[in-house]
Amino acid sequence: MDYDQVFEQALLSLKEENRYRVFTELGRHAGEFPKATRHLPNGQEQDVTIWCSNDYLGMGQHPDVLNAIKAAADKYGAGAGGTRNISGNTHMICELERELADLHGKESALVFTSGFVSNDATLSTLGKLLPGCVILSDELNHASMIDGVRHAGCEKIIFRHNDVRDLEDKLKSLDPNQAKIIAFESVYSMDGDISPIKEFCDLADEYGALTYLDEVHAVGLYGPRGGGVAEREGLMDRITIMEGTLGKAFGVVGGFITSTSNIVDAIRSYASGFIFTTTLSPVMSAGALASVRHLKLSQIEREQHQERAATLKKLLTEAGMPVLPSVTHIVPVMVYDAELCKQASDMLLEDYGIYLQPINYPTVPRGSERLRITPTPFHNDAMMAELVGALKDVWNRLNLRQAA
Ligand SMILES: *Cc1c(COP(=O)(O)O)cnc(C)c1O
Repeated sequence: MDYDQVFEQALLSLKEENRYRVFTELGRHAGEFPKATRHLPNGQEQDVTIWCSNDYLGMGQHPDVLNAIKAAADKYGAGAGGTRNISGNTHMICELERELADLHGKESALVFTSGFVSNDATLSTLGKLLPGCVILSDELNHASMIDGVRHAGCEKIIFRHNDVRDLEDKLKSLDPNQAKIIAFESVYSMDGDISPIKEFCDLADEYGALTYLDEVHAVGLYGPRGGGVAEREGLMDRITIMEGTLGKAFGVVGGFITSTSNIVDAIRSYASGFIFTTTLSPVMSAGALASVRHLKLSQIEREQHQERAATLKKLLTEAGMPVLPSVTHIVPVMVYDAELCKQASDMLLEDYGIYLQPINYPTVPRGSERLRITPTPFHNDAMMAELVGALKDVWNRLNLRQAA
């Protein structure tokens, strides 16, 4: 067998569909975010402005976070040195878990090496531990939840996105005594819409289901202490398991769940994605801890973030750009075509120094390709004027669709 030919063919088919991902090599400038240096394959460098980072609040360069990281490196050294069981149960990660449990008003929390791992490990373990379990999963759930459901090996039912009636129809059709988990997100990060959390919790009560809520794009950003949308809406006590990341708004790396002590203890004891891997470094745990603590008390980042997102949406709408009417900090500008989306993104980078990655299938459905803009408190008015001007140019040059 010509093995190499198989891989080459696989890559070719992605390229033919305009789905082949090209990564941009960047060096972010601490203290000057969203400015960065792009390193080109020919060795040259280019100054760019990042417009698609999930470091939504710029916490990745916050002095509290950087100081905590430096102090932890001096105090503890680089790595955790093992799994949680084999000498990796570091003081910093235990402190972080207590802080996260408090953030969500839950008995317990568990930290994983990433948000992806936390979803995959937790959902797959829940589905295995609950006999005869069925997981009801929103059709637009993130790939990590889809993997978790698949790895659970139990029955799964996909319900229509954010559709209360469809979920109820599906719950109705099930045996009332069957174990059920409703798995969904609060903020869906591609359209920037929010799920009907209260209505889903009501259904969970009525039909005897557990609730599993991914707050990855909301922790740090919503609620008086940055607990997420469920905190903002006073619903945290109605969610069985909340999941979040330390890598996006908190600006560091890692993932976590919060829940009752029995559920957290069961995941700790059964999830191989938690058990058999080296613990998140105490250095990064200390950085994440400082970030969570800061955002529990400080509102200014959240306020500026919302103001910046609203301002950019307004500017783009005035400029006739096809912006999705997102109710959150996410600003999607629609292109509706994979090839054109890639071209627009390349042009913005090459000709305007604006780094805005194209979002194509399978991240979004085919025909709904877009540029996903994530303004932060560090994107000032001048940068926004520059961005809107560049987008208008590119839309004219490529003859892209304007707002309807
Ligand atoms: C990014 C993302 C994750 C994974 O989190 P990481 O910490 O980046 O691994 C999980 N869920 C959703 C909805 C995400 O967008």
